[in-house]
Amino acid sequence: MKVLIADDSAVPRMILEQTLTSLGHEVVSAADGQEAWERFLTFEPDVVLSDWLMPGIDGIELCRRIRTHDADSYAYFVLLTAMTEVEHAVTAMTAGADDFMVKPLNRVALEATLIAARRVTALHDELRDQRSTLVRLNSLLHDDARRDPLTLLGNRLRLSEDLAAIAGRVERYGHSYYLAMCDIDFFKRYNDTLGHPAGDEALRTVARTLAGATRAGDMTYRYGGEEFLILLPEGSLARATQAIERIRAAVQDLAMPHPDNPPSGVITISAGIAESNPARPIPADEWVRRADIALYEAKGLGRNRVVAYQEIGEAA
Ligand code: GH3
Ligand code: MG
Ligand code: MG
Repeated sequence: MKVLIADDSAVPRMILEQTLTSLGHEVVSAADGQEAWERFLTFEPDVVLSDWLMPGIDGIELCRRIRTHDADSYAYFVLLTAMTEVEHAVTAMTAGADDFMVKPLNRVALEATLIAARRVTALHDELRDQRSTLVRLNSLLHDDARRDPLTLLGNRLRLSEDLAAIAGRVERYGHSYYLAMCDIDFFKRYNDTLGHPAGDEALRTVARTLAGATRAGDMTYRYGGEEFLILLPEGSLARATQAIERIRAAVQDLAMPHPDNPPSGVITISAGIAESNPARPIPADEWVRRADIALYEAKGLGRNRVVAYQEIGEAA
């Protein structure tokens, strides 16, 4: 083990150093509390054997510092006291020491203490490893719960969290956002003709294309079934519409045969766009509803096209 000795008396320090070295430990010594603290930070010992009375930082203060320090591994702290100071052992244990030993040290007692130290530090290491595994698994679970397994896009849970965050940004920072609801045209027929496995593959390809065609800052989700939702922080409705129009064209350009989707005969999407701006921030459900209305309009106008909600509002 790595053992740090802190003792301002040179002779007992050297004896202890020799004993520990002969027991096979790696030893670093310090002649006062401040030096011990500095060595502690660089050496990162498993065990600290510290005298109580030392100039500057005493053993109890050293122990307190070590306990409040955010170290990677646990240091087993043993306070060394003279017989006459033994009542300080309680203060030291309260400050976070694991044990105390009365000087002069006996080799066998020292060996026994170090066995206990190894056990405790091993337990702490195990705990730390388990904790970091838990943190890692937790974060995987967190991500999995927010990802659609088929397309690997964000799912409804992620969308609802992001929508809440975006609503805050619209109001606080005065940003406009655009929500596009994209829906594959006549996808039921695609499944009916080519089968559900082919349908799943098509969904994956369209999802990849949508995510690939969006710009940094845009967010793409699988809203459900063959519906995808894209959030865009654009400068204007016209620019957002252009962006979605590019995405629509990218899907068409995949040229995935869909015999029952006239006139193109390939997989296409229709999209409806709605705006939420600082002058008129819109609650999430109303925002989605407006995009849906525009999407319905796009379907009615012959599919494979993009319609913005505002245009309909103005036309109505
Ligand atoms: P429209 O152009 O009006 O949107 O017609 P549509 O056929 O696409 O719309 P509809 O809502 O009638 O059908 C959607 C189809 O999407 C029904 C279902 O078979 C298919 N679908 C939904 N989720 C999945 C999925 O995970 N895998 C597969 N293969 N198909 C799916
Ligand atoms: Mg559809
Ligand atoms: Mg649909």
